[in-house]
Amino acid sequence: MKIYTLGTSHGDATYCRFNSSTVYETADGSLYLLDAGTPVEALMTRKGLKIQRLRAVFITHMHDDHVSGITNIIKSAVKYPAGREHGLAVFLPEAEALPPLRGWLDALHLKYDHMVTFGTVSDGVLYADNNLRITAIRTRHLTVNGVPSSFAYLLEFHREDISILHTGDLRGDFSDFPKIALEKPLTACLCEATHYKPTDAAPVLAEAKLGRLIFIHIHNPWHGPEGEAALLSHYKFLPYPVDIAHDGDEFEL
Ligand SMILES: [Zn+2]
Ligand SMILES: [Zn+2]
Repeated sequence: MKIYTLGTSHGDATYCRFNSSTVYETADGSLYLLDAGTPVEALMTRKGLKIQRLRAVFITHMHDDHVSGITNIIKSAVKYPAGREHGLAVFLPEAEALPPLRGWLDALHLKYDHMVTFGTVSDGVLYADNNLRITAIRTRHLTVNGVPSSFAYLLEFHREDISILHTGDLRGDFSDFPKIALEKPLTACLCEATHYKPTDAAPVLAEAKLGRLIFIHIHNPWHGPEGEAALLSHYKFLPYPVDIAHDGDEFEL
């Protein structure tokens, strides 16, 4: 299977990175989008990732840099239905986000109910089809009325025997890095790299049973060759490969 890290910035777009969006592609060509920061629709087009192949969208949390491109995705799904075998499933992490999203889609004169189904994320198995199963794991980056409302996702691909942990944003002390990565071997983890100090993360990641670590959501200090070298210097001792993703990178697992 293939991973496309389309947008790899933190809360703002920068001179070299756009907001968060990652596409997972299975062997049959199906696409799954994790986070939909702008300009996700344009970045998918540039990569030749056709909207008709997109089966589901999962939003980790309701911060602008993770969800701002969702109406573009829904617009394209409605506008270009030819060849689509499945509807588009969109999972939002807060039920309260759905009425305002519907309101904005209505304001854009989009008729989407025949094409798009909406779901709300909660802990546990969230989605399954013939390619993969996705489990949601609550994290504490964002709380709403005292309730943690951010999520990481565990993607388990049936055919390829691959398990990938994809974190959304995490807390500043790295304490909500999902324990699943410490408990069972995972093929890879895509982990945000903005909200915590590497010195807090390194001891935890040393215990993680990962085949590979790929950093996404890259903070300003880690941009450019010198910044990347500085970030990687904190993780040199890890017993598995560590990469820093860029916009447009492709990873084969
Ligand atoms: Zn973010
Ligand atoms: Zn955030």
